[in-house]
Amino acid sequence: MQFKNTLEYAQQLDAEDQLSKYRDEFHFPKVNGKQVIYFTGNSLGLQPKRTQKFVDEVMTDWKELAVEGHFYADKPWWDYHERLAAPLAKVVGAKPEEVTVMNTLTVNLHLLMVSFYRPTKKRYKIICEEKAFPSDQYMLQSQVRFHGFNSNDAIVEVKKREGENFWRTEDILKTIEEVGDELALVLIGGVNYYNGQVFDMETITKVGRDQGAFVGWDLAHAAGNIELKLHDWDVDFASWCSYKYMNSGPGNASGVFVNERYLNRKDIPRFEGWWGTKRDTRFLMKPEFEPMENADAWQLSNAPILSVAPYLACLELFEEVGMAALIEKRNKITAYLEFILHEIDKEVESSFEIITPKERGCQLSVFLHGEGRPLFDYLMENGVITDWREPNVIRLAPAPFYCSYEDMYRFGQILKSGVLKK
Ligand SMILES: *Cc1c(COP(=O)(O)O)cnc(C)c1O
Repeated sequence: MQFKNTLEYAQQLDAEDQLSKYRDEFHFPKVNGKQVIYFTGNSLGLQPKRTQKFVDEVMTDWKELAVEGHFYADKPWWDYHERLAAPLAKVVGAKPEEVTVMNTLTVNLHLLMVSFYRPTKKRYKIICEEKAFPSDQYMLQSQVRFHGFNSNDAIVEVKKREGENFWRTEDILKTIEEVGDELALVLIGGVNYYNGQVFDMETITKVGRDQGAFVGWDLAHAAGNIELKLHDWDVDFASWCSYKYMNSGPGNASGVFVNERYLNRKDIPRFEGWWGTKRDTRFLMKPEFEPMENADAWQLSNAPILSVAPYLACLELFEEVGMAALIEKRNKITAYLEFILHEIDKEVESSFEIITPKERGCQLSVFLHGEGRPLFDYLMENGVITDWREPNVIRLAPAPFYCSYEDMYRFGQILKSGVLKK
């Protein structure tokens, strides 16, 4: 593709873009009265306009029906969460029975580790990536301690090579083989939050499982961003939050995948609660737990409807558009952003090093050589919402649902003026 760094060309790409009409489905914040260029959909996705209706509906049912809303609301609350399984299964490449929505991400990973991290004296080690998202590090450390192990010994981090900004699959596979029969679990972020790298989940899952370990994925930066085939890849379990690429609002309900081979298995322990019991007898309040035959067996509490409703709203959009179309635009708009960065790079003295490897979704992490925090502040003041990470990296995620090619062009111009102003 021969891109051009002009406004007319960017506008032409928007005119040809089948998804351009979805931009208007989202609310954009404003800076100085102007709609922002939003690059932080990897952190908190924008609010879909239709979400208000879904939330209002729950508020109205609660106001008008109170407890009767559980059974007589338009979308009754007692089985509200079940509506999400089928559309969500498509987003992550699962069977509907393998997917459920509950709690929040870190909570869910802990609950899944109850089932899938059951260390023995011999097999107790966990492999993860170095510098994993902090919550994942704390989670792994506390789980290991809870089971009476020492985290320095039990947690094996795969490192990047000296001078490289990405993880090599071969290094991960080699570590799996080295840890061998001491390996209990592989748990890695499917898309790294810092450098935007997409891991080879299929291969890593296969090699980890071949060693007799469980393999799970934290898909916070993957769900709604990249193609996932959790079922076909034979992943054991996974969880993701809904508020990044899935645009479901701050801290809202999280998604869970449990491979169908673990459904209805008495030898797989779980922490249990009443929402995990069979739907038809749930309200008979029987003393013994009869698990749902799908991933809902992992549910504990009655669903947080006000947190799940925005997820359902956005899943409607995913249903309409489909991951294939989103990924096609993602590839093109991310490539255009990369092109713009290279063009601006040629015009200024500072240099922008993209540290995201070619295995990527919609995020480019850019090392700003010769620049610093003031450039980031300049971008923010001029309506470019991006994110800064130490030592000198901005993360740019042009979410294909709502970012335009014109945004990329305009970003380039603002970036240039920010660098030249110094
Ligand atoms: C965003 C993110 C989280 C956040 O966890 P919460 O429990 O939703 O606060 C965890 N892990 C990764 C890899 C993330 O990117």
